[in-house]
Amino acid sequence: MNTEIIKFLKSIGGKMLLFSLLVFLSAILNLASSPNPTTIITLAFSIILIFVSIFSYKNNSKSGAADKTRNAELEAVIQNVKDGVIIYDTNFRILDLNAAAEEIFKISKEEVLGVQIQPEKAQNQHFRIFVETIFPSLASSINTISDSGWPKVVDITFEDPHLELRTYLNQVTDDAQNVIGFIKTVSNDTRENTILKSKGEFLTVAAHQLRTPLTAISWTFESIKNFLSDDNTTKNKEDLKKLTDEGWGLSKRSLKIIDDLLNAAKIEEGRFGFNFEKINLVDFLKSIKNSAEVIADEYGVKILFSSGAENYEVYADPTKLGMAVTNILDNAIKYNVKGGNIDILIEPDTDTRFVRVSIADTGIGIPKENLPKIFQKFYRSENAQHVEPNGSGLGMYITKNIIESHGGKVFLESQVGRGTTFWFTLPTDKSLWRDTAIGNK
Ligand code: ADP
Repeated sequence: MNTEIIKFLKSIGGKMLLFSLLVFLSAILNLASSPNPTTIITLAFSIILIFVSIFSYKNNSKSGAADKTRNAELEAVIQNVKDGVIIYDTNFRILDLNAAAEEIFKISKEEVLGVQIQPEKAQNQHFRIFVETIFPSLASSINTISDSGWPKVVDITFEDPHLELRTYLNQVTDDAQNVIGFIKTVSNDTRENTILKSKGEFLTVAAHQLRTPLTAISWTFESIKNFLSDDNTTKNKEDLKKLTDEGWGLSKRSLKIIDDLLNAAKIEEGRFGFNFEKINLVDFLKSIKNSAEVIADEYGVKILFSSGAENYEVYADPTKLGMAVTNILDNAIKYNVKGGNIDILIEPDTDTRFVRVSIADTGIGIPKENLPKIFQKFYRSENAQHVEPNGSGLGMYITKNIIESHGGKVFLESQVGRGTTFWFTLPTDKSLWRDTAIGNK
C-alpha cells in the first residue's frame, strides 16, 4: 500500500474506528425499527469502514512498535560501542551518553542527562574534562585534525589525569535537513599513544643498553681470536679461561637486559599474566638465597638469612615473585663491596595482615636525591653505572609491578657508602589474596 495512504490511515486510524462503530450501531438500530435500502447501504458502508479502520489501527501500532524496536536497537549500538558517545541538542542539552563516555569522563549518565552544558561548568573539577570535550576551545591542549566539513576531528590532551582523546563531531539533522543536534564520538587513545611512545623509547634504550655489553663481547672474541692465532703469545690457558668467563658473563648480562625489556613491554601492554598458588615464603626465599650464593661468592659477598617463623603462607606466582626477589638480591650483590654482607629477614609486618621481607646490603648506596627515581623505567644512578656499566634500569620497575600485583608494597632506604635496604610486604591474610593481577584486568 502507498506509504502516504498508510501515513494518513495511521493518523486517523483510532478516531475512524470509533466513528465507524457509531455509524454501525445506528444502522443496526435503524434496521431494527425501519428496514429500508438506505439503512442496509449505511450498514454495509459502516462494516467496510470498520475493516479499514481496524487495518489502519493495526498498521499504526505495528509501525509504532517498529519505531520502538529501532530506537532500542540504536540505543544498544550506542551503549555497546567501545568509543564514548555524547549526543546533545543545539542548546548543548545532553540527550544521551553511553557507558564508554561515563568511563572516560568519570561521570554518570544521570548527572548530565537533560542538563544544558554551559562552558562555566568546566570550573567544576568533576565535570571539567567532559565540558572541555564538548567545548574543545576551553581545553589547554588541542590539535585540530580536520576543521572543514563534517565530521570535525579534534585531538584533546588533558593532564592530571593524563588523557589523550580524539573527538569526532557530527551534526544530527531532521527530515528537512535542519540541524537539531550533535553527536560526538570520543576515542580514548591514551593507552595506545603511551605504548607507541614507550615502544620508541624501548628501541632507543634497548639499542643503547645492549651496545655496551655487545661491544665488550666483541672485544673478548677478538682477544680470544688473537690469542689462538698468535704462536708466540705469552698468555696461557688461565688467561684464555678468564677471557671466556668474561665473555660468558657479558652474554648473560645481555640476555638479562633483553628479558627485562620484554617483561617491561608485557607490563606496559597488560600482558604480564600471573598464576597464583599457595607457597611457603620461608622455603621459597631460602632456595633463591641458595642459588644466589654462587654469584655472591664470586663478588666476595656473604648472604645471611633469618626468619621470624618456619612458615609464612602467601599466595604468589612463584616465577614472577622469584624474578622480583632475584632482582633485589642481584643488585644487593653487584652494588655491594668486596667482603660485604646481605641480610635477608622475614618477619610479620606492623600491619599484621602482611609479612615483611627486608634485604639489606652493605654496598655503595643510593644518593638521597635519586631515591624517588629508583622504580622508574630505565633509571640507573651514576654511582651504579660506574660499578656495573651493563644494566637495563628496568629491574626495580618490574619488581615493583610484581609485588603490587601480589597485593604488597615495596620501599627502600639507603645511605651512600653504607648500604641499601629494600623491603617488600605480601599479604598473609587470605582476604587480601589476589587471584587476578592489577593491570591485567
Ligand atoms: P639496573 O640494576 O639494571 O641498573 P634496576 O632497575 O635493577 O636496574 O635498578 C635501578 C637502579 O637502582 C640501579 O641502576 C641503581 O642505581 C639503583 N639500585 C638498585 N638497587 C641498588 C642497591 N642495592 N644498591 C645501590 N643501588 C641500587
